[in-house]
Amino acid sequence: MKKTVLRQYARLIVQTGANVQPGQEVFIFAGLDQPEFVKMVAEECYRRKADRVVVNWDYQPLQKLDYRRRTLRSLKRMDEYETARWAHMAEKLTCRIYLESEDPDGLSGVNAAKMSAALQARYRVIKPYRDKMENRHQWCIAAVPGTAWAKKVFPDLPARQATEKLWQAILDTCRVGEDPMAAWEAHNRALQEYCAWLNSLHIERLHYTASNGTDFTVGMIPEGRFCGGSEATIQGVVFNPNLPTEECFISPMRGQAEGVVYATKPLCYQGQLIENFSIRFHEGKAVEWHAEKNEALLGELIGMDEGSAYLGECALVPYDSPISRSGLLFYNTLFDENAACHLALGKGFADTIEGFTHRTQEEVRALGVNESMMHEDFMIGSPDMRIDAICRDGSVVPVFRNGNWAK
Ligand code: ZN
Repeated sequence: MKKTVLRQYARLIVQTGANVQPGQEVFIFAGLDQPEFVKMVAEECYRRKADRVVVNWDYQPLQKLDYRRRTLRSLKRMDEYETARWAHMAEKLTCRIYLESEDPDGLSGVNAAKMSAALQARYRVIKPYRDKMENRHQWCIAAVPGTAWAKKVFPDLPARQATEKLWQAILDTCRVGEDPMAAWEAHNRALQEYCAWLNSLHIERLHYTASNGTDFTVGMIPEGRFCGGSEATIQGVVFNPNLPTEECFISPMRGQAEGVVYATKPLCYQGQLIENFSIRFHEGKAVEWHAEKNEALLGELIGMDEGSAYLGECALVPYDSPISRSGLLFYNTLFDENAACHLALGKGFADTIEGFTHRTQEEVRALGVNESMMHEDFMIGSPDMRIDAICRDGSVVPVFRNGNWAK
């Protein structure tokens, strides 16, 4: 890929994405796949007068080795220096940039129960620090191609060509063209207009139907509001947590989900693919599920903790979004979630509650925002999806018809 184009993308991540502030510390989490690009991102951070940029390199085969060879007891342990790093990030409000590139199948064969037990134990230690940072620091997840990932998306091409094609797909879906920053300003405005419309309806519940069998109703929190595109920290720094993003999303009312949903794309969970699955909800909780591939892993995910069987997100994404139109299956949630309407099991977002900055985490949870250590999106959008809003005044407003906005 041309260096000038990559430079534009690096700048987009640092400015529009993370909006790195002068004097701020930045942590970049990246694989070994695109070191030159990671350096470009670091350069852009320094150009924005970052105080220090720390790169955290990751190599998936080593993660796999860890899960294989370490005992569960060892995997569960957070050593003092690891906790100290979280404490440091929470205190400094470090800006975090994630550059995803991993192989969607890279952890296949790892014992799912062992992995989730380890993650749960570590999460308990991390949680107070995460809570302290929530809505107070900027973060941005973007992607760069890794060879194995590119081969998964373009199996018929040789590695080099596949990588180049994946670069192009990433750049196209991230609107890296003539003037990416201007394109993102317009895009953020459009997303915010849809959110404003949805919020003006005072929706009590959403009813989804599709010819694949999906027939599902989910309740809304009266204080909830749809969000999309850029966000702002409590201090007022505007950033885009996901590049790309096409969704208007909300945290639904915990305990109010009824009916069955059919997934329309595979779910890549911790390096393994769950395929062709459905989940039935009753009183908000996933009570029955089936999957053609990796059903046990789906059960592991749903049973992770007390909140993981409940929903934390409902997101509306038109079927004709650029990612969907690309016709590609990325096997990566950052992209695939932006190609279709989706739900997420697990943690809800406090910032989808009106006036969340003045409310405590406990108050937000009491209003109906779900709590869990995990948040896992799965795609349910299809070309014939219909969504109706049943509003608090009793009216029914078409929100989606044939997979696209009805407005
Ligand atoms: Zn989402």
